[in-house]
Amino acid sequence: MKTGGLADVAGALPLALAAEGVETTTLVPGYPSVMGRLETASVVHREAGFFGGAARLVRATAAGLDLMVLDAPHLFNRAGNPYSAADGGDWPDNGVRFAALSRMAAGIAAEGLGGVRPDVLHAHDWQAGLTMAYLDGATRRPGTVLTVHNLAFQGNFPAGLLPDLGLPAGVFRLDGAEFHGMVGYLKAGLAMADAITTVSPTYAVEIQTPESGMGFDGLLRYRAGALHGILNGIDDEVWNPATDKLIAAPFDVRHLGRRAANKAALQARFGLEANPGALVFGVISRLSWQKGLDFLLPALDTVLALGGQLVILGSGEADLETAFRAAAARHPGRIACFIGYDEGLAHQVQAGIDAIVVPSRFEPCGLTQLCALRYGAIPIVARTGGLADTVIDANEAALAAHTGTGLQFPPGQLVPALHRAAALWAQPEVWARLQRNAMQADVSWRRPAAQYAALYRGLNTDGRRG
Ligand code: ADP
Repeated sequence: MKTGGLADVAGALPLALAAEGVETTTLVPGYPSVMGRLETASVVHREAGFFGGAARLVRATAAGLDLMVLDAPHLFNRAGNPYSAADGGDWPDNGVRFAALSRMAAGIAAEGLGGVRPDVLHAHDWQAGLTMAYLDGATRRPGTVLTVHNLAFQGNFPAGLLPDLGLPAGVFRLDGAEFHGMVGYLKAGLAMADAITTVSPTYAVEIQTPESGMGFDGLLRYRAGALHGILNGIDDEVWNPATDKLIAAPFDVRHLGRRAANKAALQARFGLEANPGALVFGVISRLSWQKGLDFLLPALDTVLALGGQLVILGSGEADLETAFRAAAARHPGRIACFIGYDEGLAHQVQAGIDAIVVPSRFEPCGLTQLCALRYGAIPIVARTGGLADTVIDANEAALAAHTGTGLQFPPGQLVPALHRAAALWAQPEVWARLQRNAMQADVSWRRPAAQYAALYRGLNTDGRRG
């Protein structure tokens, strides 16, 4: 079930942790798309009246993962986006749905429900944040970690919900689940987890400032000693240009020339001029304010003036969708867009473009630039959050030392970066060096998994109390 980077992490991190000697069982809601993909399954726990209906815990395997599925049809048997109805509005019972997920997580952690009793409980984002509240006061519980993938998504619900949640008495407090009079799901996790991580070292620093803390900066400064930045990786099997069946011509760092066939295929697929010499920029993104794609609109003239082309793959806010559709209609052969979400196309775009543009206003980690590095698409990124931590700017020093992997620019100031990219593109040897550096950067989960494993081992996992 994927709406963005969290799914990539949940799918790949457990596999990487296995190599570190960490066994992982992942608790997920029983969405229809999950229930339909289970390879082996057995019911290990039942509850009759669980947040308004019957619920089962199903121990299962799928996609190489050891799963515990919360099969509660009254909460999760809904097609489409996990958080919203077809009309785009949030499900009105989201507060109850993810309280239920968190309550079950706490039951597993503290009571061994379903036959699993973990040493460490690792919760992701607001959807699982209330787990820490349910564990409040437990006589025996594992060490706890909360990872914030994006502080913008907080899960704040009216206090009127409290009677339905069955939280431990007293946990609706300032240093607990209370947040400005609301029940704060992410807040509960931030306040009460033994350790907090976020998905890049730079974002870990940024969120302690009022400008980027989204109301949590004070709490995060208070908890700075427990806060760690650990970068995301990508699944380097799924994202492997040498074996990728979704692209026209597999290639690797020693056979960069084969990339040209992918560029030609992309230009044909999108109706762009068949011009191998044109610098093709790409975007693969949610179209939202966070991603700063409104900065790209006034820069389109620069793209064209530089002789470039642009491919946009994305969906999201209606005004951005409309604006990019209109730009493509105005400049056929030079600008093209596909409005929608398409995994296969994402691979083809990464393999065929020359440079990916990521102009985010803020970016906790960002994954598209990691995929781009692996596919030799040079990332042109705003210097913020994880973008700043994963791309080595090809400034004069980096060019002299042959270490650059992309370009960074101050958020909002995209146009000069496009000119810099074009200047580098005009030097094929220099560009090829950037590509080789990019493709050799380690964007896998290996280093991050080792950091998570070390963090887990540093927690007191023996009967820790809140
Ligand atoms: P976020 O989680 O904020 O959306 P990330 O860069 O961390 O941003 O992760 C986004 C993930 O979703 C990446 O794997 C990216 O390739 C993918 N993605 C985003 N938009 C699309 C799209 N329209 N089609 C296919 N994949 C997409």
